[in-house]
Amino acid sequence: MSSGSSDTGNLFSFAKTLDQELAALLRGASLECIVCGEFVMHARGGVVFCPECGVQLGPEAALSDRPELEFLSQAG
Ligand SMILES: [Zn+2]
Repeated sequence: MSSGSSDTGNLFSFAKTLDQELAALLRGASLECIVCGEFVMHARGGVVFCPECGVQLGPEAALSDRPELEFLSQAG
């Protein structure tokens, strides 16, 4: 038996698409949540969050640098 890796390609392209969606969101080129498709809100520090499902997206540096963002995640 051989360990077929045909599915890996699909996973990779899926992740790549998510990465592009995330980049578009952070640039402000897209305003739709990548999780639920609702409009997202832009917070300080280049962080984007979705009031509908509570997901937060943004540069890791900004997320770890701003304690108040943890309050947002708990509010959801
Ligand atoms: Zn959402």
